[in-house]
Parts: sequence; structure tokens; C-alpha cells
Amino acid sequence: KLYNQIQDLKGSIRVYCRVRPFLPGQRSNISILSRMDDQHITIFSPLKTGKDARRIFTFNKVFGPSASQEEVFSDTRPLIRSVLDGYNVCIFAYGQTGSGKTYTMSGPKEVNEKTIGVNYRALNDLFYLSDQRKDTFCYEISVQMLEIYNEQVRDLLNEGLNRRLEIRNSSNKGLSVPDANLVPVRSTEDVIEVMNLGIKNRAVSCTAINDHSSRSHSCLTVHVQGKELTSGNAVRGCMHLVDLAGSERVDKSEVKGERLKEAQHINRSLSALGDVIASLAQKNSHVPYRNSKLTQLLQDSLGGQAKTLMFVHISPEADALGETLSTLKFAERVS
Ligand code: ADP
Ligand code: MG
Repeated sequence: KLYNQIQDLKGSIRVYCRVRPFLPGQRSNISILSRMDDQHITIFSPLKTGKDARRIFTFNKVFGPSASQEEVFSDTRPLIRSVLDGYNVCIFAYGQTGSGKTYTMSGPKEVNEKTIGVNYRALNDLFYLSDQRKDTFCYEISVQMLEIYNEQVRDLLNEGLNRRLEIRNSSNKGLSVPDANLVPVRSTEDVIEVMNLGIKNRAVSCTAINDHSSRSHSCLTVHVQGKELTSGNAVRGCMHLVDLAGSERVDKSEVKGERLKEAQHINRSLSALGDVIASLAQKNSHVPYRNSKLTQLLQDSLGGQAKTLMFVHISPEADALGETLSTLKFAERVS
């Protein structure tokens, strides 16, 4: 059964929607959303009447506000296994700032075993599964942590290094960022240590803006190299875990200078990502990878045999309606 699941996922694009619960202190009496079943969500526009007031969106899966981190991760598991079989995988968190992207990928500020996010769970699974295969395969796992801010790639695992890195394409290694630190890891503890360094470096950003993290894309890349012990055959897979910049639109009349430039870079790279996934979903012959650093970086892991999972996040509040609709439309386009 699992094998069939993996076959189904081959070269596939899946879109999961996750609705954040109301936060402590938020007025929770008006919600614009209701989850109908595990594939549909209804959205109510309070200012519209009749047929227009209600819209239904369909996803591969919908997680309501009470879904646990474990439940959200459980559907991701077949993807993790396929990395060990040599597939490339991309997992994205998309949504406006505050909708729960970082919560899904990493967890809340103070994490515990229950609230820990997809990143750690995925790596935990990789170690567990590779250990299960240790009589037949030998695996080496290493991680990179990059950030894309204003179309510049920065290494989060290299302290004090603010220079921009180049994305290179070589025939034997495919797309890579050769100058970024690649750190071998052997256990989940190693990964936590590496990620903490990345998070610390991300906070010490090259610009003085606060909330830098919601204006940049962060990408944890896990490289897996395996060798079958009897045949000596090699497999190579990689997994990108991407916490995207906030998708909210900014009002051009209200922001200027750096902030406007930033917003334009974010809009452009998120639409470039949307364009790439949409053209893959439609099986177009031309896929416009070259329009952003993000899609260039992930080119090897989007399309072909690669597997893509997009977690689309929405907030339940009525005043988020505009952004929620635009998020759902983005999701509709890529699925
Ligand atoms: P984003 O990364 O999209 O800006 P965050 O992940 O930082 O959003 O979430 C915003 C706030 O909501 C944080 O305080 C986070 O802990 C909380 N939060 C998000 N999703 C959930 C959830 N599913 N359950 C409980 N709290 C959540
Ligand atoms: Mg975040």
C-alpha cells in the first residue's frame, strides 16, 4: 500500500491547506472560514449576499485549527521515505505573515515534542528510516541552510558571511550553491544544533529591519547520499524545506524605498514560484525557472520526478479576508 502511495506521489504536486486557530486574546466570534471535510473549505464574505457570499475551495487535504503537528506531518511521511530512494522533494510553507508558516515548519517559539514542526520530524524520520535499512544501505546525510532576501542568497550556517552566493549548474552535481556550508549530520540532535545556529544567524541580519524573517525565504536543504552495500549502486536525493516570505500585498502608496523594493522582490519571487508550479501542474513544455533566485535554486527539485508539497496557510479572522482569498487563489492556481 505504501509503495502505491509512493508511486502516486511520483512527480506530483500536492497542496494542503492549514487553518490557524484563533490566538489567545483574539476575538474568536467571527470566523470567515469553515472546514467542510478533509478536502474542502468554505469561505464566507460578510459583505456579500446570496450565492456570492460563499465560496468553496478544494485541496488534497485540509487541516482545521485543531489539527496537531503530528497529524499535519503524518501525510508527509511517504515523501520522506522517497528521498532515501533518490527522489528530490520540496516542501513549502506559503501564506501571509502570522498565518502559521513557521509554526508548521519549525514549531512555536518554545517547542516541545508535541509542537515540534515538519523540519525536525522529517529529519527524525530520515534517520529512523535510514537506520532501518542499515543492513542493505549506507547513507550520508548533510544539511544546508540558506536565505533568499531581495534576490540574494545568503548562507545561514556561516557566521559573519554576508556576501551573496552564486547558484551554479554543473553536469554531475546539478544545481547547487557550492560556497555554502554543507554540514554532515548523524542525529536529530546534530540537526537541532545546526538549525539553532541558522536561526541565530538569521536574526543577525544584514539589514536593520525588524521582522526580517517574514520578508525573506528560508530554505533548509537536506542532501542524502546512499550506497547499496551489495551492488555498490549509489542513490542521491534531496529535500528542501522552505519557509517562504509573507505573501501579503503591500500598499504601494504607503511604503517607499527599501520596504517597497523588498515587497516587490517578494511579490515577484512568489509569483515566479506560482508560475513554475502552475506550469508543471498543467504539464507545459516550458517551465519558467529562471525568473527568480528561489525557482533557480529549486529547479532540480521542482518538476520531472520530483515531488512537491505546498502547505497553504490561512488565518481565521474576518479582517484577514482579503489576504485569505488571495492565498486561496494562489493555491487554486498551483493545484
Ligand atoms: P508566520 O510564520 O506565517 O508569520 P507563525 O508561524 O509565526 O506565522 O504564527 C503566528 C503565531 O501563531 C505564532 O505565535 C504561532 O505560535 C501561532 N500559531 C500558528 N499556527 C498555530 C497553530 N496551528 N496552533 C497554535 N498556534 C499557532
Ligand atoms: Mg514565520
